[in-house]
Amino acid sequence: MSFLEVKDLHTSINGKEILTGLNLSINKGEVHAIMGPNGSGKSTLANAIMGHPKYNIDSGDILVRGESILNLSTDLRARKGLFLGFQYPIEIPGVGYSHFLRNAYNTLNKSLGEEQNREVFITVREFHEYVKKNLDAVGLDPSFLSRYLNEGFSGGEKKRSEVMQMLVLKPNIAILDEPDSGLDIDSVKSVAEAINKLIDTGAGVLVITHYARILRYLKKLDYVHVVARGKVIKSGGKELAEELEAKGYTWLGIEEDK
Ligand code: ADP
Ligand code: MG
Repeated sequence: MSFLEVKDLHTSINGKEILTGLNLSINKGEVHAIMGPNGSGKSTLANAIMGHPKYNIDSGDILVRGESILNLSTDLRARKGLFLGFQYPIEIPGVGYSHFLRNAYNTLNKSLGEEQNREVFITVREFHEYVKKNLDAVGLDPSFLSRYLNEGFSGGEKKRSEVMQMLVLKPNIAILDEPDSGLDIDSVKSVAEAINKLIDTGAGVLVITHYARILRYLKKLDYVHVVARGKVIKSGGKELAEELEAKGYTWLGIEEDK
């Protein structure tokens, strides 16, 4: 049994079918990538796993350790150790970054503390030292801690910030929705290195991306899946990412739309 299992998932938005029977299993310690044309349902999958209310589940199931999580709210899914790095992180003025992170970290310690042997930080200062190390790992300045969540961050800073949160929170499974989009070459490298740090903790990782570049920097990549028209149409090893980059999606008989 894998830690996270998506079984024959069908979803719709406003009556339009998006996922059409998607299957995927991710275990801790495994690194997966999903590639696929725009509009094929990659972000829908990520959001459905986290329980976004807009994505209606029509049939199929999402299981963590063999138990369905479909009836759980997003925060309860997070407490099982699921993490989503957004394709488009939103700005939340009024929510202090440092406060947000500390609350999230402490909440996760209550549910995952024993199983993961997580560090407990008594003082705010100790916690800040821990966060600063992670800010450093992604090349963000400590001053970000005193800002509101994502407010005024550049596109690249938002992306670095998402993986920084992932490092701080230490999920069991991290899903990263295009963590490399809009990043310059150096930023892609530092985001990949952050993912490598998470891999070292034994977490499972799912990277959704259009480009083989970020995948080349990962210390391991076990599976590459191609999603088209709402389902996984092909899975392979890391060579599949290179093949797709060289040949495009038409090679698999699917159109690159939009
Ligand atoms: P991908 O991430 O693979 O590019 P998405 O999962 O974002 O694709 O989108 C899949 C399809 O679902 C697209 O046709 C998109 O327009 C549609 N879609 C996604 N989110 C919404 C929404 N909130 N409202 C209406 N349609 C949506
Ligand atoms: Mg997307």
